[in-house]
Amino acid sequence: MAVKEPKTSKWRPWLPVVLLFLGVFAMQEFTRFREPPPFTWTAFREAVSQGRVESVVITGGRIHGRLKAEAGKEAQGFTTVKVDDPELLKDLQAHGVQVSAELPENPWLITALWLLPLGVFLWLSLLRQRSGGGAGRAGGLFAVGRSNARMYAEKDIRVRFADVAGVDEAKEELREVIAFLKTPQKYRRLGGKIPKGILLVGPPGTGKTLLAKAVAGEAGVPFFSISGSEFVEMFVGVGAARVRDLFEQAQAQAPCIIFIDELDALGKARNTGPVSHEEREQTLNQLLVELDGFDPHTGVILMAATNRPEILDPALLRAGRFDRHVVVDRPDREGRLAVLKVHAAKVPLEDPKDLELIAAATVGMVGADLANIINEAALLGARRGKEKVGRAELEEAVERAVAGLEKRNRVLSPLERERVAFHELGHALMALALSRGGDAVRKVSIIPRGVAALGYTLQVPTEDRFLMTRSELEDRIAVLLGGRLAEELIFRESSTGAHDDLKKATDIARGMVMTYGMGQALGLVTVDPGRRPLFLETGMAGGRGEYSEALAERIDGEVRGIVDAQAERVRGLLGEREAVLRHAAQRLLEREVLSGEELAALLRGESVPAAPEGKPQERDAA
Ligand code: ADP
Ligand code: ZN
Repeated sequence: MAVKEPKTSKWRPWLPVVLLFLGVFAMQEFTRFREPPPFTWTAFREAVSQGRVESVVITGGRIHGRLKAEAGKEAQGFTTVKVDDPELLKDLQAHGVQVSAELPENPWLITALWLLPLGVFLWLSLLRQRSGGGAGRAGGLFAVGRSNARMYAEKDIRVRFADVAGVDEAKEELREVIAFLKTPQKYRRLGGKIPKGILLVGPPGTGKTLLAKAVAGEAGVPFFSISGSEFVEMFVGVGAARVRDLFEQAQAQAPCIIFIDELDALGKARNTGPVSHEEREQTLNQLLVELDGFDPHTGVILMAATNRPEILDPALLRAGRFDRHVVVDRPDREGRLAVLKVHAAKVPLEDPKDLELIAAATVGMVGADLANIINEAALLGARRGKEKVGRAELEEAVERAVAGLEKRNRVLSPLERERVAFHELGHALMALALSRGGDAVRKVSIIPRGVAALGYTLQVPTEDRFLMTRSELEDRIAVLLGGRLAEELIFRESSTGAHDDLKKATDIARGMVMTYGMGQALGLVTVDPGRRPLFLETGMAGGRGEYSEALAERIDGEVRGIVDAQAERVRGLLGEREAVLRHAAQRLLEREVLSGEELAALLRGESVPAAPEGKPQERDAA
């Protein structure tokens, strides 16, 4: 993959300069405008003594500070005019406020700011020259990119695996990376396949960054990190230079980890919008170049995080790039308890058992939310002058977090949860019933995931199959229909939750008739639906080209016939299993997650405890 040339056809040297001068001017005005709200001295002192202040910067005659983040509220800045107060420093220290000082504004700085556009202009023209003259790795010219990348390197990472809780599967998958980073030579000799690009996939706040850091910490290697969103607002060429620089520096410090947060901001599929985003494309191309160029034997491991893998440019996911995916999911109850324990380790609790209640009451929350709850509870305790944090504080902190969460994404009502449980179990039971041996279901979960999916059933992927028989396709349709039909069986009424399943099932049936020659209407003649989009969906007269209305109708009829036949079959199978379905749903509602084995055990009529194996039962099955 080659670096793309900038598309600008005519080089107008004065344009960037004018734009930059305007930019600097606007920025100055903007910062003035954005000055955080002023505090009175009394309000400031009060905030300090209540422990609400996180940090302050003391300049000549002013104090700029930040308040701590509270549930539902972001960290807030403020500013106040400084009053001569000999107690101030002592007080700040007593309340654990981070204090730093800054010299009064330097007139040279402002001059430098105004000279910046000129510098950037010079640099841009150099960059242009260079990109015209082949892809040499120019060194000293990229002082900006260079110094920035250096800022992102961290050594002596203290985070360990023990600090990341509730993501055991992800940890297991990453152990190999640690082994490799610790002794790359030895690993190579033993012939281990060396990982290169690892994509951590999961909702925000589940601990992806923390996990990547912990890998560096466990292996004792430096951690370079950069966020995809940092590239988006940059000038053309800067992002690419920065990527190049980052890799250059990382390679010099190998073994190490490069972590790119928010990969989706940078790696969105190209050419999706009407306007191409040149800077992002260049940066992305550079990243691809680096990914292909670097030799994993050097001991550099690339990790990235995203919560939207589906929008990533497919080029990023190809073999030899980010080809290993590690799912970092929302924690289940056990996982939440583990996260709470990690964060409560530094907080004295009245009764550690309280954490179990909190874990049960925080369905759908991620590690970051839970860390916040503990922090909030500790603050509440301190404000109330308590020695230890009690249940009252914990519960109040949860309430605040829930309120914040409800604003962000909806929380399911108990009735909806029940429906989701039956729906997912419908899929899972069908998958188990129709699998030809083997464990077809890895787990069933009603922990909400993402915006669209209310629950999910993780099926063991039928490896990329080249050939599927007619009955295998029919089984797939049956599994897809299982969700909806289980809802119908139990609630005697359908919901909107299944439309995606139904669409997929219809697509398979249509493929069988139109593409794979498995229907009667066309026989072995195929129709390429791709050539005539909306061919069947619209039912429009005209524009049908080679196909008659009558044939289209027959195809529709056959598609419908295939789906209907499977629906009948699924109704039968589910009917036979209604008792198991109800029993399993009860367990799933208590446990939120059931493994494939547990489900299989239920099907065999064995009992499955209300709490995960090995753990004592914590509450009665309600
Ligand atoms: P992400 O990168 O997935 O958005 P982060 O790693 O930035 O999430 O998590 C933010 C903070 O939330 C962490 O610094 C940590 O304090 C807390 N946290 C998140 N997940 C976990 C977890 N699994 N175990 C412990 N703490 C967690
Ligand atoms: Zn479904």
